[in-house]
Amino acid sequence: PLRNAVWYQRALQAAKIDTLTGANNRTAMDETLEREVELAHRHKLAMSLIMFDLDHFKQINDNYGHTTGDDVLRECVECANQALRSTDMLFRFGGEEFVVILPGVNVTGANLAAERLRSIIEKHVFNSRQGTVPVTISVGTANLTMQDNAKTLIERADKALYSAKNSGRNCVASSEELEATLHEVTTVSA
Ligand code: GH3
Ligand code: MG
Ligand code: MG
Repeated sequence: PLRNAVWYQRALQAAKIDTLTGANNRTAMDETLEREVELAHRHKLAMSLIMFDLDHFKQINDNYGHTTGDDVLRECVECANQALRSTDMLFRFGGEEFVVILPGVNVTGANLAAERLRSIIEKHVFNSRQGTVPVTISVGTANLTMQDNAKTLIERADKALYSAKNSGRNCVASSEELEATLHEVTTVSA
């Protein structure tokens, strides 16, 4: 019975891990994000989210092959684990897109962490049989507000990521900066 219990626990844990990269998977993210948002609201604590996506990853697959693409994803997760604090939680959101939950972290802290992450990946040398693979990421950040729930926080980080892509990729954009710019545009034109 003890062995069965241990195997059962292991199976439960394995169901929350992405098999390719070893990062936490989408199922784990949905659960954790709901819980962390609720905790932050209840205890009035800061919390931020980072969302990042590999730049032109389709081209990497096309030029170097899918196996190298898979290696790149694994190494990006290693880089992210180096760049982040042990209290930060990394999740593979899907494909070549990742989410980091940063409990207790404010806007400034989130942007610093995002920049550190971007820079580590830009500087990391990704080797393949066909030589070095140039890898960069675009990053969006969002800080939890009183009005946010898990879904809106994700949406705001996603919009910021979109903005980073539109700004030429390999950069960080924050939801707060983006919302301030939008506010300026609407008040000027009103
Ligand atoms: P962008 O800079 O706009 O993000 O461009 P992109 O090429 O990265 O984005 P796009 O959405 O066009 O392509 C994403 C690619 O990621 C396509 C898909 O085949 C690849 N991909 C998704 N999951 C995996 C995976 O597990 N392994 C590999 N090798 N490729 C993957
Ligand atoms: Mg991409
Ligand atoms: Mg993508």
